[in-house]
This record gives sequence, structure tokens and C-alpha cells, in this order.
Amino acid sequence: MKNEVIQKADHVIAKTYKRFPVVLTKGEGCRLWDKDGKSYVDFVAGIAVCNLGHAHPRVAKAISEQAGILFHTSNLYYTVPQIKLATWLTENSFADRVFFCNSGAEANEAAIKLARKYFKEKGENNRFRIVSMEKSFHGRTMATLSATGQEKIRKGFEPELEGFDYVPFNDLDALQRRIDVTTCAVLVEPIQGEGGIRCPASEYFATVRRMCNEAGVLLIFDEIQTGIGRTGKLFAYEHFGIEPDIMTLAKALGNGLPIGAMLAKENVAEAFGPGSHASTFGGTPLVTAASLEVVNVLFEENILDHCMKIGAYFKDKLFWLKDRHSSVEDVRGIGLLLGMKLKTDGDDVVISCMERGFLINCIQGNILRFIPPLTIEREEIDALVKCLDEVLD
Ligand SMILES: *Cc1c(COP(=O)(O)O)cnc(C)c1O
Repeated sequence: MKNEVIQKADHVIAKTYKRFPVVLTKGEGCRLWDKDGKSYVDFVAGIAVCNLGHAHPRVAKAISEQAGILFHTSNLYYTVPQIKLATWLTENSFADRVFFCNSGAEANEAAIKLARKYFKEKGENNRFRIVSMEKSFHGRTMATLSATGQEKIRKGFEPELEGFDYVPFNDLDALQRRIDVTTCAVLVEPIQGEGGIRCPASEYFATVRRMCNEAGVLLIFDEIQTGIGRTGKLFAYEHFGIEPDIMTLAKALGNGLPIGAMLAKENVAEAFGPGSHASTFGGTPLVTAASLEVVNVLFEENILDHCMKIGAYFKDKLFWLKDRHSSVEDVRGIGLLLGMKLKTDGDDVVISCMERGFLINCIQGNILRFIPPLTIEREEIDALVKCLDEVLD
């Protein structure tokens, strides 16, 4: 059954992923092809990464042009694409400064280090604890898995990094009780991604912001999954009428090229001086030139607007499915970060959809997650909904 390529992979690649038996070889827009020529409509987008779709011609051109000029120099020197991207990000967010790295976990590592350093600089040496949320996901490095409120991700890697406390998401009383004079920051995803597309109650973040201010604690938003248009706004914090002090980005920032970023307000960012933190590959001219084109396309082609509208359309269709199928328990999310919770196991649904030419993703065992490129169109959504209608029967 398994083809030769997959048999080979099973011998040489670390066993950290449970993979589907398909070898993908080509992509264009919202579509992918496997090596046998079968095509799939992609509602995974590399886990909320390829927001502009696959092989976007403008991004491909930006990469190849920059590749012919300069890949990498080291951050001992300035490069123009990095400065342009940092300028764009600061002009379009609450933040004043940007640190570039290569992944989400690294961006969160930088945020954790900055929060601790901020209080060390003020002489508050005991303020180093970070409160994060149960069912959160912040990455797989030692610091970021320690910040992650999911036992299954931390188990086996003890001892964890010291200084992390978890409270239930959406529970303001628990948060209030947990914050004390040893707390340096609250770290939170505006909408929990891996945890199951869990949305904040209205006014939740307004109160969290107020609590942080009152306690003199920093607020860190992990927008690695929600940022760069996924929820219909450039950043999800814009939905809640508040601003964090620090924000982390990665996933969609490079539309597939590896780039992460940690953004902060000036008064916080100034705790990092020369030598505080570094990354060899962080913000190379190649990846920043690609990202710059990504964000330019996002604005020039009005993709946020499209995401908001098509996301609402998609969500309506998911509610329509919920009405028709008793196995559907809940539909939730904003923009094109949508989830549908089942009363039954979701893995079989994913496989049946795949056989019918649709890639979808299941998290936490029974929550189907829909995170297509933001350029997805009605016809593609209608086709998936028809497929789900059959599969759920
Ligand atoms: C994916 C993700 C991360 C980790 O990013 P990596 O690039 O895999 O290290 C962290 N936080 C959130 C919210 C994510 O969705």
C-alpha cells in the first residue's frame, strides 16, 4: 500500500509526526497536488502559514529577485529589506521595535526573555513568573513548552523551566488570583489555536489589560497563529480594543518562508541592548524581502476584507451543517480561523475528506480546524461543505 518514497521516509526521518500517506509535490493558490497527480483543496495552508496561497507569483518573484542579489549578511550589518519590513510592522501595529528570528517558538522565547529582562533592568529581580493559559500552545523549545498549558506537550521533558503558572482561559477571577508581585507578564493567544479555536468572552481582554496595568505586569499576545490577517484584521488584538506590550508573530509572516518576529513598545523594548539576544538567521534579506511582499500583497489586494466576508460566509455554512448533523456540537472562530467541534472522533472525517480531495485538520481529537489561504473563494467552501455533509452522514 505504502509507496516507495514513504517507505524510505519512514527509515530516515525522525518519528515526531504522524503523517498522512501522501507526498505533496506542487501547489498553486488554494490547491495542492500529490506525486500521483491527485489534487486537493487546501483548508490547512501549512497550519495557517500560506495565507496568500501556494506559489504566489509576486512572493515567488520577490524571493528569486532577492536571491539573485543577497541572501544573508549577519546582523552585524544593516540590510534594506529588514529595515523596510520592521518599518512596515511598526507603522501598522502598536509596536515601536521588532526583533527578527526564524519561528514561532523563537519569537516567544524572545518575548519571555524580554519580559524577564525588563524587570531585571528595573531592579525587580523577583518578578520573573509568567502566567499563561490552560490549553494554550506557545511552542516546543524548553521555555515555550514550559509556557504551554498542555500536560501532553510538557510530559517527558521535565524538569521544566521554572516560573510558569497556568490559569483557565476566559477565567478573570483565576487570573486575578494568580497575578502577584512575582509576576512579570501574562502570555496569551487572543484566540487559542491548537487548543481548539477557543475565543475570548466579550470584554475579557479589556479586563485582562486593566488587571495587567493595575499590577504593573506586561501583556504578551502570542499572535503566531492569529496574526497577519487570519482573523480578518491584520492582528487579532484589533478586535478587542486594546493593545498588548509585546506581540509575537511567525506562521503567515513569510507565507511559508521561515520567519518569526517579536514586537514591543519602546519602553519595554529598551530592556534589550547589544548582546541581550541574537539570532544568526534572524531577518535575513531573503526572508524579509519575501515577507515585505507578503504584507504588500495583503493590503494591495484587500485580502483582509475578503477574509472577513468569506469567513462569515464559511461560518454560516458550518452552522448549516450543525443544524443538519447531530454529531456537530459547536461552531466557532473569527475570520478564517474556524473550528467545528464534533461529539465523535474527527480523524476519520479528515481521512474521508482527504480521499475526496480536501485537506482539513483535526485538533484535540474532535475539533475540525479550517484555516485555508485567505484567498479562498465561495465555490471552494461550497465544495468542502458538500463533502462534509456527505461524510458526516
Ligand atoms: C504554531 C504556534 C507556535 C509555535 O510556532 P513554531 O514556528 O512551530 O515554533 C506558537 N504559538 C502559537 C499560537 C502557534 O500557533
